Amino acid sequence: MMAQYLGVKKEYPGTLVFYRMGDFYELFYEDAEKAARLLDITLTRRGMSAGEPVVMAGVPFHSMENYLARLIKCGESVAICEQVGEVGASKGPVERKVLRVVTPGTLTDTELLNDKAEAVLLALHQGPKHRVGLAWLSVTQGALQLAECDADDLADWVARVAPSEILHSADVSPGFAQRLQALRASVPVTERPGFQFDSGLGQRKLQEQLHAASLSAWGADDLPCAHAAASALLAYAEHTQGRALSHVQQLQVVRDGERIELPPATRRNLELVQTLRGEDSPTVFSLLDTCMTGMGSRLLKSWLLEPLRDRRVAQQRLDAITGLREQLWQKLRGDLKGVSDVERITARIALRQVRPRELVGLRWALAQSEQLARSLQGLPGLLSEVFADLQPPSGCAQRLAATLREDPAALVRDGGVIATGHDGDLDELRAIQDNCDGFLLELETRERARSGIANLRVQYNKVHGFYIEVSQGQLDKVPDDYRRRQTLKNAERFITPELKAFEDKALSAQERALAREKWLYEQLLDALQEHVPCLTRLARALATLDVLCALAERSLTLNWCRPQFMKEPGIEITQGRHPVVEARLAETTGGAFIPNDTRLGPKQRMQVITGPNMGGKSTYMRQVALICLLGAMGSYVPAQACRLGPLDAIHTRIGAADDLANAQSTFMLEMTEAAQILHGATAQSLVLMDEIGRGTSTFDGLALASGIAAHLHDKTQAFTLFATHYFELTEFPAKHHCAVNVHVGATESGADIVFLHEIQPGPASRSYGIQVAKLAGMPTGVVNHARHALAALEKHQEQSREQVDLFAPPPAAEAAAPTQLEATLAALDPDALTPRDALDALYTLKKLL
Ligand code: ADP
Repeated sequence: MMAQYLGVKKEYPGTLVFYRMGDFYELFYEDAEKAARLLDITLTRRGMSAGEPVVMAGVPFHSMENYLARLIKCGESVAICEQVGEVGASKGPVERKVLRVVTPGTLTDTELLNDKAEAVLLALHQGPKHRVGLAWLSVTQGALQLAECDADDLADWVARVAPSEILHSADVSPGFAQRLQALRASVPVTERPGFQFDSGLGQRKLQEQLHAASLSAWGADDLPCAHAAASALLAYAEHTQGRALSHVQQLQVVRDGERIELPPATRRNLELVQTLRGEDSPTVFSLLDTCMTGMGSRLLKSWLLEPLRDRRVAQQRLDAITGLREQLWQKLRGDLKGVSDVERITARIALRQVRPRELVGLRWALAQSEQLARSLQGLPGLLSEVFADLQPPSGCAQRLAATLREDPAALVRDGGVIATGHDGDLDELRAIQDNCDGFLLELETRERARSGIANLRVQYNKVHGFYIEVSQGQLDKVPDDYRRRQTLKNAERFITPELKAFEDKALSAQERALAREKWLYEQLLDALQEHVPCLTRLARALATLDVLCALAERSLTLNWCRPQFMKEPGIEITQGRHPVVEARLAETTGGAFIPNDTRLGPKQRMQVITGPNMGGKSTYMRQVALICLLGAMGSYVPAQACRLGPLDAIHTRIGAADDLANAQSTFMLEMTEAAQILHGATAQSLVLMDEIGRGTSTFDGLALASGIAAHLHDKTQAFTLFATHYFELTEFPAKHHCAVNVHVGATESGADIVFLHEIQPGPASRSYGIQVAKLAGMPTGVVNHARHALAALEKHQEQSREQVDLFAPPPAAEAAAPTQLEATLAALDPDALTPRDALDALYTLKKLL
């Protein structure tokens, strides 16, 4: 047996092997040690193999899912090796085979998956010229996506895809290996053989998968690096599922520039799906997500995290929401309630892993879909597309109803799954079992009369089969043809030739009925395969409708307005609110949120925001970003009115969230993020800068902040909200025509401060730092000390005041000092070069890069 085990294990290095032995899955050697550590199960030593005791640990088969879930959470993969042969069919151990491999990125078990999140598998391929190919797939969704990017942008792409597992080739350059190493901290990374990353093979596999002669219909034929990644991705997904993925029939190419960029810092700072502390709520998603189904929640999350620049999509969604808001949303949500996860069930049909109860759920969902479709009849736009896709595949529900019991057993192997009346043979076999009881009662009466033993009983148990039980005192009356089967303390158990014959018939009927049920279930799965594409569309339609209804509900409950899109660049918000802060205020203090207006356009691109800490600067800036984002995804927004111009990205540099995990100093991180923004932002981006320069000395910080503000204003020309505690920066708008000063209002009441949370024009008059400290419970002595120190400082500053022009540009020579490359290029006179010289010059220039 150990030889058999080692043979299996050799095929699955780096994967824990669950090796089925009776009622347990056993793990051996290092696998056992690792599992014992991760699962806190007992390690034992038994027998000997190659002169050493065998170290093992086991988990009971019936609670295997629970252990699997915990291992997957730790980023482990598990190969499940089952007994496939008949016990005793041949010499040696029963034949065993790995039937599936469960990995973090290829989970399909409904019990192991989070309802609201996809498990996504991502393959990366390092191509030539700094290119990286990406291919990713959610096995349960059946949607495959491809992209290519520059190696420097890889981390952003990975953050966007948010994979549960990453595959890469064993053959990568040291530089690429380092990038992978950085990813490893947050995602399990699996190495695959280099030959599996084959571009030509990938293209062919994709074509086969999509049943197409070329990939041009998807705009996917010019992506050799992504094809290579896809080849490894599909091979791995098939390898783990133990079969081809027939349901994967959607392909999408994601290109730079299609979506509004939301870099990882923006997602984090805006607390879209996670709070800054890493919790799931309260976040924008947790506030929005009143979806009735897991499919809806997952789709909503992707709308929120991947808003499209093309506003036609958002417009369509808004039209639909406006239509639903009238009254229809309530009825539809009532009908969506309890609809099972058709998306995951469909994938499990395609993978032939679906369980009987899931299919009963599907049948109910199909009936509900028809009901939902009836309500949508004749509606325009997106809702008419949903209507068309909600039509259940013909005959599917009938087939399910005719085949399955209303309340089937959990597993096919337990029987009791197929409905009565569906199959004559099965009904006959079941009848034999049902007649059992009658026969046994009749036999009991007969035997009692024959033997004169009044308390004689005919019974059955799993281990010993049928028997006649006679108590100790009555043994002398036992007839001659009784054969002893078992002796107990107070009784003996017997069998008679008649009972034995009956037992053979009954047991074989039971076995045959089970086998028949299994076969009929397989037939059902065969029949369902043709419906997979239609069911995939239906699942998507259910999810879309669910999200639209949830957004309609939110817009009414939270009193949001419909945003307008305009062609000209700009952000115009009347009485905007921060949805999450507003909800929290309502919940905790019952206090009202103070709404604020925002006007940004070509002539006024930057607001320099000052005012006391706790005054509401961050809240205001975030609310502007959130309103833009919600509008772009096609949702109503928390405002009274809102007009939005085109947008290509939302960049944020907010707060001093230490990135301890990456051991970067706060200041370094601040500058890295700011530099990325200056490089990445365009005139169509929204940039939030909160307290930039705070992490270093006052002069350094102020100098950097003024330089950054000037760059954003003059060069980038992005829409910028620039909150700062440097008073000196309020001078900025005087010399920069597209910038204005605004401040958050506060008033003093005695020695205390009252925050108004209102954005008002002009710079703040004071910083109120000491009042805020007092509010925070600083001891009176310290507050008094500070007050005096401040007065002294202010006096000193007044005396030595000398106007410094922070915004004077550096001397021209310095500002524009040419690089060596530029200088060399400038010195070239193309007309004076021979072809030979030109080639040499090209080499020289290339070296200077
Ligand atoms: P700052 O960035 O100026 O230090 P914050 O934006 O963090 O201030 O706001 C501090 C607190 O003030 C918030 O947690 C919130 O409770 C409250 N707040 C901010 N803006 C508003 C508003 N517009 N209406 C009501 N309360 C607000």
